[in-house]
Amino acid sequence: MSDRAAADQFPALTPNEYRDAWCGQALPKLEGRAMRVAGWVHRRRDHGGLIFIDLRDRTGVVQLVFDPERSGGAHEQAHDLRSEDVITARGEVVRRSAETVNTQMPTGEVELWVNELTVLADAETPPFGVESYSGEVGEEARLRHRYIDLRRPPMQEAMALRHRVTTAMRNHLDQRGFLEIETPILTRSTPEGARDFLVPSRLQQGSFYALPQSPQLFKQLLMCAGFERYFQIARCFRDEDFRADRQPDFTQLDLEMSFVTADDVMAANEELIDAVFDAVLDESVRATIPRPPYPRIPYDESIARFGNDRPDMRFGLELADLTDALRETEFKVFRGAIESGGMVRGLNAGTRDMPRSALDALIERAQQLGAKGLVWAFREGDGWRSPTAKFLSAAELTDLNSRLSAEEGDLLLIVADSPARSAEVLGTLRLDLAERFGLIPDRQSLVWVVDWPMFEEQDGGWNALHHPFTAPEGGLDPANPGAARAQAYDIVWNGQEIGGGSIRISRPDLQQQAFDVLGITPEEAEARFGFLLEALRYGAPPHGGIAYGLDRFVQRLLGADSIRDVIAFPKVASGGDPLTGAPAPVDASALRELGLRVQGAKGPIA
Ligand code: ASP
Repeated sequence: MSDRAAADQFPALTPNEYRDAWCGQALPKLEGRAMRVAGWVHRRRDHGGLIFIDLRDRTGVVQLVFDPERSGGAHEQAHDLRSEDVITARGEVVRRSAETVNTQMPTGEVELWVNELTVLADAETPPFGVESYSGEVGEEARLRHRYIDLRRPPMQEAMALRHRVTTAMRNHLDQRGFLEIETPILTRSTPEGARDFLVPSRLQQGSFYALPQSPQLFKQLLMCAGFERYFQIARCFRDEDFRADRQPDFTQLDLEMSFVTADDVMAANEELIDAVFDAVLDESVRATIPRPPYPRIPYDESIARFGNDRPDMRFGLELADLTDALRETEFKVFRGAIESGGMVRGLNAGTRDMPRSALDALIERAQQLGAKGLVWAFREGDGWRSPTAKFLSAAELTDLNSRLSAEEGDLLLIVADSPARSAEVLGTLRLDLAERFGLIPDRQSLVWVVDWPMFEEQDGGWNALHHPFTAPEGGLDPANPGAARAQAYDIVWNGQEIGGGSIRISRPDLQQQAFDVLGITPEEAEARFGFLLEALRYGAPPHGGIAYGLDRFVQRLLGADSIRDVIAFPKVASGGDPLTGAPAPVDASALRELGLRVQGAKGPIA
């Protein structure tokens, strides 16, 4: 239920000189009563004689009527009212005649016949209409005047929903014994795989704080400190290059628990998410979300079947590994890919009518995604209708048809490339096709991805798939880091990762082993994370936790197009804030105090 339909659920107002009721409280049960309301002029209609003003506050809109006979001086004043003026008005609640009832408004059965009006603030003509807005305004303008944009009912609803989500999280975690503890914003680097934002120190010139990419290390210290169950609605900062729909500062629900296994953390989080859904979703939507326990899928299986580590399991079109069927093939494209360590993967898109132009567009899309090409085919008899059919033997075609469970007329798509690329490309095409063919049902899917590799190879070295503090399953064989599995889990909602975490390393020697794999020497580890290693030496309980991207979570709940629609004051893609003008140059004197000098070009990186 939205706030705007629920004025009765708002705390009663203590009457003062501005108002004694919310706009949204103007309901038939108050007929004949006097009411004083305050708010913004939402809409104004001047019918020569009668003047109608829709007045808006946070709870809704009420229609004010100014009548030349009955409103006295207030009618005269009302002539000059303009959109977004701020007023207080007193009048009598009158039932509307049947033909003027507005069924679109919760207060649409009554109106307020005004006898007293005070203008509290004149408004300049706003750069875009609050009332008339229909999405035509550019985002830059909306963000530049965000305080006006936020007046619009959809934005008010988004903020209210966000509040309800965090309240439900806090309530649930509080009941489960979690303590909300704040951790520093000015700190040292917390490696989550992004670049740090740095803040120069004035008192120690030449030294810098880093803004936290997450509270990871502090929440581990809080476990060492014996708090056992911690959470925080935490601001995190990651200085990443342009990536659509990301924010350089964003919010996580971050939590950590002691004396737990991965199963415990997942179970506690299923309870949490389920409780949040119960608290904030309409029943009809709630019914489309399954109750826990949520299914679990190992990482390797997710890649093999869905092409990525955030499987959208609401529909089929699963990938198949065709490599074994094609090891001996004469077709150079397939064979070459396999011989150089690659794979051939395919998917059966079902019986589809696709003209040549659409198939060409699919090839182009696959190439944009980094594939060298895309083979398409329709099953015809025992073989294929496809430009590629002539390169494959009859036995191979039969085998491929069977591996892809192809029936007459089914469209088959095949990519031969490195294991990662072939999965990624087909995984993305799978999502495109589901969208295009309308295969996504209302039923939602929540799934845990488990059994992650600890490390992935990158540029000849190793990189942590989660972060360097994730505990391996069993031990760590330094000679074979690629084989190590992590006690990590990500939660994926309709194909989007909404949270991820792990059991942590709680032994200093094991932590150093993980650092060794990542190429972090003991000296470097001591310099960067010495405080953590030291804490682990003073009695660290086994612990683990998770963090959710809160902005993304609320965006999904709301069905908003952009993450920016659920953040009060977001930044644009270049990292700038059109409202305040941040980031901005600073005075030379401020730089001098910091011992800094700006060199070279200024301005946004294109
Ligand atoms: N700190 C991790 C992150 O920000 C989450 C976790 O491991 O709890 O992704």
